[in-house]
Amino acid sequence: MDKQQEFVLRTLEERDIRFVRLWFTDVLGFLKSVAVAPAELEGAFDEGIGFDGSAIEGFARVYESDMIAKPDPGTFQILPWRAEAPGTARMFCDILMPDGSPSFADPRFVLKRILARTSDLGFTFYTHPEIEFFLLSKKPVDGSRPEPADSSGYFDHTPQNIGMDFRRQAITMLESMGISVEFSHHEGAPGQQEIDLRYADALSTADNIMTFRLVMKQVALEQGVQATFMPKPFSEYPGSGMHTHLSLFEGDRNAFYESGSEFQLSKVGRSFIAGLLRHAGEISAVTNQWVNSYKRIWGGSQRTAGAGGEAPSYICWGHNNRSALVRVPLYKPGKTGSTRVEVRSLDTGANPYLAYAVLLAAGLKGIEEGYELPAGADDDVWALSDAERRSLGIEPLPQNLGEAISLMERSELVAETLGEHVFDFFLRNKKQEWEEYRSEVTPFELRKNLPVL
Ligand code: GLU
Ligand code: MG
Ligand code: MG
Repeated sequence: MDKQQEFVLRTLEERDIRFVRLWFTDVLGFLKSVAVAPAELEGAFDEGIGFDGSAIEGFARVYESDMIAKPDPGTFQILPWRAEAPGTARMFCDILMPDGSPSFADPRFVLKRILARTSDLGFTFYTHPEIEFFLLSKKPVDGSRPEPADSSGYFDHTPQNIGMDFRRQAITMLESMGISVEFSHHEGAPGQQEIDLRYADALSTADNIMTFRLVMKQVALEQGVQATFMPKPFSEYPGSGMHTHLSLFEGDRNAFYESGSEFQLSKVGRSFIAGLLRHAGEISAVTNQWVNSYKRIWGGSQRTAGAGGEAPSYICWGHNNRSALVRVPLYKPGKTGSTRVEVRSLDTGANPYLAYAVLLAAGLKGIEEGYELPAGADDDVWALSDAERRSLGIEPLPQNLGEAISLMERSELVAETLGEHVFDFFLRNKKQEWEEYRSEVTPFELRKNLPVL
């Protein structure tokens, strides 16, 4: 038994923890949990806990359904809302096949596989997510319109603002679980919050995002409201993005940094951005996986009504340009470690393991193939006409899930990164969602057509 495992077993005893939840994530990004008694843990560290994989979205076919969840002791945390004795703790798991090999269906393994390749190239991949979400006054039923829990706006600080108490309690809880928060504020829309996590290696970030979503929902319930990570719950307000800052380090050295070059961006950094741009269309179904995701990043004339909220719609990069898909944020001269790129397409409804895997794959491809970075966009690209954008070589992101699926289907990069099993399951699942959506007669059509036709 290693030191981390011993630490877990000792803590269980000292803190009188009677339940240990083993967590993992299905292919669509939903958290799954099985609780075990502490007495089972020693065995679980050795051999894992068996479960029926066919019951989990995207995991296995019925005839090969036996799977094993093996807890990662480095992720052990006590759940703060179940901390009093007898308490409850959790660990993330790796999913294995009965022969002990990693399951190709496990999103955590998909990310680990590309992180291992990244480390073979000499890099560590760091991520820092800005997570936006809405607080609603109650759970909407039957697809009815949601109601924001407050009426504040960007950076508002008012005493009656539910968001303030909420953020304080939520952040305290995250910190007590070892998840450091860097910033938090009210976002642009009523009820909309943003909490930014401190940068960490991508696997920890993805685990942290899964924990984050649960903690937000938990704290919301305690405060009599509901948290939602739906990318665009309101037509007339901005949606919720999960902009993520990415960087590669070689040892202690930021590989994106080069003193004296434009924006202090190294050749590695420039090629990484070029990869993100060139593959943006084909990875979109993973970073923006729902029908609803495209209501957020669709760059139509709704912009003028303030409903777009700085979500990117076009494939370009810029320095201080919030209309760009990839932004190189402000840097402090002389600060060598902070050069990074912010990807703004990603939304809060994504599976963070898969989304970070495809973003990293796109960037690495750029580095390995030595892609040249196209000219940056200085203009507000939403304000340009289609013809102007075309003449600048700026293409739109996929306009809907259907388009994103067709691009992904032809993508070697995504197939290779997700692996055959996840790639096939994901496409099948998303095609079904798109078909269901297309076959539905919507309130829009009824409003538009029924009175006049
Ligand atoms: N809510 C916006 C989005 O959907 C982002 C606003 C911001 O710049 O933080 O991406
Ligand atoms: Mg924001
Ligand atoms: Mg941002």
